Amino acid sequence: MAKYCVTTPIYYVNDVPHIGHAYTTVAADVLARFWRKNLGEENVFFLTGTDEHGAKVAQAAQNAKLTPKEFADKVAPEFEKVWQELRISYNHFFRTTDPRHEKIVQQILQKLFEDGHVYEGVYEGLYCEGCERFYTEEELVDGKCPLHPNREPQYQKEKNYFFKLSSFKEELVRIFETGEVKILPESRKNEVLGKLAGELKDVSLSRESVSWGIPIPWDSSQTCYVWFEALLNYYTATQFLENKEKFWPADVHLMAKDILWFHTVIWVALLKAAGLPLPKIVFAHGFFTVNGQKMSKSLGNVIAPKELVEKFGSDATRYLLLGEFPFGQDGDFSLEKLTVKYNADLANGFGNLVSRVAKLCENERLEVEEYKGDFDSRFEKLFSEFNFTEILALTAEKVTEANREVNEKKPWELEKGEKVKVLKSLAQKIQHIAFNLSPFLPTVSEKVLQQFSGEIKVDKPLFPRIK
Ligand SMILES: [Zn+2]
Repeated sequence: MAKYCVTTPIYYVNDVPHIGHAYTTVAADVLARFWRKNLGEENVFFLTGTDEHGAKVAQAAQNAKLTPKEFADKVAPEFEKVWQELRISYNHFFRTTDPRHEKIVQQILQKLFEDGHVYEGVYEGLYCEGCERFYTEEELVDGKCPLHPNREPQYQKEKNYFFKLSSFKEELVRIFETGEVKILPESRKNEVLGKLAGELKDVSLSRESVSWGIPIPWDSSQTCYVWFEALLNYYTATQFLENKEKFWPADVHLMAKDILWFHTVIWVALLKAAGLPLPKIVFAHGFFTVNGQKMSKSLGNVIAPKELVEKFGSDATRYLLLGEFPFGQDGDFSLEKLTVKYNADLANGFGNLVSRVAKLCENERLEVEEYKGDFDSRFEKLFSEFNFTEILALTAEKVTEANREVNEKKPWELEKGEKVKVLKSLAQKIQHIAFNLSPFLPTVSEKVLQQFSGEIKVDKPLFPRIK
C-alpha cells in the first residue's frame, strides 16, 4: 500500500513562530493535502511539533520566571494556534516532553551504548548556545558563530559521551551518493558530500551542564544532547501509532538548509547505528531575506505569520509564501511584492474569474454536476519534485486562459444554446482549477467547488483587491 510520511523540523520553543517556520510548515501541509487526495487520507502522516529541552529553553524559562516545562506548555500552543490560522492539517503535533518519547529515546541510547557506538570522553571547545552545538575554530567566522554573530561562543570543557560518528563516514558517502537517502536539491547533496570528504569527527551526545533534558540511562549525571533526541522525534512519533511499521521510514523530511548537516550526516548515522530504516528524502529549502535584509529581531523586520494572515487571509498567505520563488532556492519577501502577486493572481486572476462566470451562470440559472475529476496530469511529477512555483504557474496560466475565453467569446452576446454551452465549459474549468489549487487554498477551493455544484449562485468576492 502506497503511503506518504512528511515531516517538518520540530521548532524550538525559545522563539515564537515567524514566517521561517510558516514557510516550511505550509510546504509540508501542501504536500500532505495533495498526497491525501491521491493516496487516501489514512495513508498520509504529517508530523510537526516543538523541541522543548536544552539550555536555551531552560534560560528562556528562567527569564520568564517559569519552570522549563511550564514555559514549554505556554509556547507550544502558540505554534498550534498559528498552524490552525494557516489551516495546517498535521496528523500529530509532537512535543519532546512527551513521556512516550523520553522512553523510546532512552531505549535507543541504551542500545547504542551496548552495541559499542558510544564512549566516554572529554569535550573541550567553543560552544554556541544559539545553535546548541560546538564549533571548531575553522567553522567560526571572525571567532563568532556564523548564524549568531552577536553571541560570544562559550568555551566549555566537560565530560561527555560521544557517538562514533567517524566510523560511519564511508557508509554515509555511499548512502548519499547512491541516493539510498536522497538529499535535495542536488546542490545541497554536493555540499554535504564535499564536507564529508574532510575529517568527520565523533560528536558528543550528552551534556553534563544541562539538566533540562532526557537523562542518559546509564549515567544520570548527564542528559541527552538536545539535537539527538530532537532528531529521534521523527521515529518516535510513528511508534505511537497503531500501525507502527506503516509510516516509518519517512518519505520526506523538510527543513531550512542551516540544519541539513544534522538531518543528513548525524541523523542517518544515528539510524544506521540503531539498526533502523533510513528516510527516503531529506529536502532543504533556502533562506530568505525580507526587503533584501536578513530577518532578525534586532532589525525589527521579523514577519509574524499572523500579520500576513490579517492582510491576505490564510489561504492567500499559503499561496503567496510558496509562489514567490522556487522551493529550495534562496529568495526575498516583501509586503509590496506579495501584494502585487496577490492582486494579479488571486484578486484579478482567479477571484475575478469566479465572480464574473458565477454572475453569468446565475443569470442563466445554470446547473453543473459536482466535480469528480482529478488533478492536472503533470502534478504528480511536480509534487514529487517539490516544484510548487511551477504548479502555481500552471494553474495561473489556466486562470488567464479562462479569463481570456470570457473576454473573447463574450457569452452575454451569444444566443441561449451557445451561451449555456460556453458557460458550462467555463464552470467546469473553474472546478478543475479550484481542485488543482486545493492543496494551497483549502478553504477557498472547497467554497468554489460547492458554489459550482448544482445551481450556480453569485457569492462574495473570494479575494478582495488590496493596496
Ligand atoms: Zn549559533
